[in-house]
Amino acid sequence: MRALVNVLFVSSEVAPFAKTGGLGDVAAALPRALAARGHDVRIVMPMYARVKAPDRTFETVIGEAVLVLGGTRIVFSVHTADLPGVPGGAKVPVYFVRCSGLYDRPGIYTSDHDEHLRFAVLSWASLVVCQRLGFRPDIVHANDWQTSLIPLLLRTMFTWDRLFAGTRTVLTIHNIGHQGTFGKNALGDAGLADAAHHFHQDQLREGRINFLLTGILYANAITTVSPTYAREVQTPEHGVGLDAFLRQRREVLFGILNGIDEGEWSPETDARIPQPYSAEDLAGKEVNKRALLEGAGLRYYPRVPVMGVVSRLAWQKGFDLCMSVLPRVLAKRQVQLVVLGTGEPQYEKFFSALAFQFPKQVAYKRGFSEPLAHLIEAGSDMFLMPSRYEPCGLNQMYSLRYGTPPIVHRTGGLADTVTPFDAGRRSGNGFVFDHFDESGLGYGVAHALATWGSGEGEDRERWRALQRNGMRARLGWDERVNAYEMVYRMIAPGR
Ligand code: ADP
Repeated sequence: MRALVNVLFVSSEVAPFAKTGGLGDVAAALPRALAARGHDVRIVMPMYARVKAPDRTFETVIGEAVLVLGGTRIVFSVHTADLPGVPGGAKVPVYFVRCSGLYDRPGIYTSDHDEHLRFAVLSWASLVVCQRLGFRPDIVHANDWQTSLIPLLLRTMFTWDRLFAGTRTVLTIHNIGHQGTFGKNALGDAGLADAAHHFHQDQLREGRINFLLTGILYANAITTVSPTYAREVQTPEHGVGLDAFLRQRREVLFGILNGIDEGEWSPETDARIPQPYSAEDLAGKEVNKRALLEGAGLRYYPRVPVMGVVSRLAWQKGFDLCMSVLPRVLAKRQVQLVVLGTGEPQYEKFFSALAFQFPKQVAYKRGFSEPLAHLIEAGSDMFLMPSRYEPCGLNQMYSLRYGTPPIVHRTGGLADTVTPFDAGRRSGNGFVFDHFDESGLGYGVAHALATWGSGEGEDRERWRALQRNGMRARLGWDERVNAYEMVYRMIAPGR
């Protein structure tokens, strides 16, 4: 393989066009980092309703293309815009697959009857884009179940096309909790009835197909987003039914930590916060704390620590533990809490009730807000992330970068990025609890509050040391991109 590669990156989310979580960030940041190294990277994603913001312009690159899948004719067009923020003048074109019948809906993901078709079409269309534009990918990089049919498509439906003769596939699993399991009618709908023998036969007999499993079986290499999660998904406890298949493929399974996009997330240059600051000069952080609290309707006390939360409010994120632990902590300790998130109703109700019960200490903003997410990272003193499981996690890394030590459960990427603070040695960058239960979380929070202490004098100096340990860690994509290049090289033809 040439040192520089052509990469087709296919994803159901790419920030800033459409994002629900970490996948959206990674699907922008990794292509940027690869392009900065000189690779020719193109991205394919759906043209959701939300992509068509009034201030965006697109150029049409394919006026009309037709797929016939399971006897249904699907017509789409393809439009392009450049990915913003690519360093060094390189370009990363994003190709948007426009098919109003499938993608013009309020959400990115739906529970509609044709969810399987929406992403099967994305997978087919990504390869049609290569054909029509004459782009010869060395690597097609698929992400999560939505694009997991691509490796099989290349091995079955597209083998006739020499364009793909040297193409190899990588599947990145961002969260094994979502697998794309559908009734077996999805096979015909996806245009893969003739490839039925390539699917897992026991599952087919039971009447279902699993998109993610297909990717695991047929991708040339599989990556997931942290070394610990790569080990965890091979265990019955965390593999969500796919651990045995991943163990079979462990020779080509790699855990590569996500990086953070330092163009977006650096306290020295963040345009979304009132006062930039750095590890050398942390005074500015206090201005952000005051702004955060004022905006949230809480009073500012320099010595009372503020705990921040920015999260999807989902079972995965561990907020059920907070339901018993946080009211006790708030009743007993001087601490404030600012929460931003939406998701499952029971957690939204819990945080609303908590703000009602502790109006001087707790503010809850239900919603999705990029600016507030930045202000919480900058203005909080500590960050709470008690995830039950966490493939990688970005917010704990943003927190480290912003001098906001995270309190985390030792799992997945949290275990790989947060190390427990040792006050004697002044080592470590946060607070880590081992046991996912109330006393585990209680211990993590108590350790953080004890380390904060009075918030002044020697206690403050100790806290500063902890903050600086996190702020100085190298968390950018530059560190990570080597590992992806290594995987791409490893699966190149002739190796
Ligand atoms: P996941 O992908 O499981 O949601 P990550 O920590 O990997 O978790 O990534 C979450 C991303 O989504 C981060 O960039 C975080 O800031 C963002 N995010 C989550 N909820 C919100 C919200 N309510 N408002 C703004 N950003 C949010």
